[in-house]
Amino acid sequence: MLLRNRLLFRNLTSFLPSPSPPPKSASFTLSFNKTIAYSTHKLPESKPQVAASRATKQPMSERARFAKTVLFVPPGVDPEDVTDEMILPGSNIVLGPYAGHSQIKEVEFVKSSGRAMDCPKDNRPEFAILGRSNVGKSSLINVLVRKKEVALTSKKPGKTQLINHFLVNKSWYIVDLPGYGFAKASDTARTDWSSFTKGYFLNRESLVAVLLLIDASVPPQKIDLDCANWLGRNNIPMTFVFTKCDKMKASKGRRPDENIRDFQELIRENYKQHPPWIMTSSVTGLGRDELLLHLSQLRNYWDQ
Ligand code: GDP
Repeated sequence: MLLRNRLLFRNLTSFLPSPSPPPKSASFTLSFNKTIAYSTHKLPESKPQVAASRATKQPMSERARFAKTVLFVPPGVDPEDVTDEMILPGSNIVLGPYAGHSQIKEVEFVKSSGRAMDCPKDNRPEFAILGRSNVGKSSLINVLVRKKEVALTSKKPGKTQLINHFLVNKSWYIVDLPGYGFAKASDTARTDWSSFTKGYFLNRESLVAVLLLIDASVPPQKIDLDCANWLGRNNIPMTFVFTKCDKMKASKGRRPDENIRDFQELIRENYKQHPPWIMTSSVTGLGRDELLLHLSQLRNYWDQ
């Protein structure tokens, strides 16, 4: 069952050339305009309503057709039935019938592991959080769980290079992985990181998705693109979580939404369907509830 579900998710993020890429000038227009404008989200219509609205629906416009190629449409939703209200604010993520029970009530540190084979063996679904050092990983974990000690635990000396498992609501795991791309790390250290973390990605059956954190306050970085491409090539489902989106006056001249668009342009051609992405800020709390809802729909589908 788990394997079947994982395979289905893999299909949603398959790393294949897009058969007919849409014109570059139109890219992400709809998702950015709409998502930034929203201040609240709505759950999608129930199935009977969706069926009714389909009967009266107008033919899809060119723009809507394009939007569907960049949206993440979860299991249980027919792409034809997607409406603007179903898109989570600040993201390309469509909310489907599996979303729910998203809030974190309790979280406990379970263990630090040096190898994938040492990780907890109870098969609860898990999300791995990965990103460059200083991307804002600890800050985001703190915001998600609303408990400072959690991310501090994994920053303790000796635990930063380990796989740290946190059990949420006694039912699923947040997994804090070592940051990559330390400015002063030697090539040898990077290689060690790679083989260690790659072992986890390639062998962890209960991994629902990787949350790949990308700093939206700086232009796309090669190391992040390489990481995304490696995950894609290996069919590891991922969600791009853009951090520091509050930094609207970025020092290097480009705004977060421009950096995000540039990043997506650089990876878009590799995907048949674009992976889910979401804008967050640990300073303002932007994207927190939306990200938790997204995780809930992936998790609940996995669990069924
Ligand atoms: P980590 O090394 O990936 O765990 O990164 P940290 O969470 O320690 O954050 C690195 C730096 O970025 C710190 O100075 C944080 O205060 C800052 N930071 C993290 N998240 C945000 C954010 O959402 N907005 C802003 N403006 N700064 C952030």
